[in-house]
Amino acid sequence: MIYYIREGILVSFRACMFCHSIRVYPYLGFMTGQQYQCQDCEEISPLVLEFDTEEDFTHFLTHLEEE
Ligand SMILES: [Zn+2]
Repeated sequence: MIYYIREGILVSFRACMFCHSIRVYPYLGFMTGQQYQCQDCEEISPLVLEFDTEEDFTHFLTHLEEE
């Protein structure tokens, strides 16, 4: 399932590296620095996919489906 942000906030678009969900939120790891936790697959990782716009993200997903 794909979720879209419609709030018009100027932030880069983050997506989970594992399941490509955009329900990725900052997770505070005190010893390890900034990490993110995916609300869908529950993976915690310092690495997330980042896109400047929603269009870049949907473009990425389109290419995934083509392969
Ligand atoms: Zn995920």
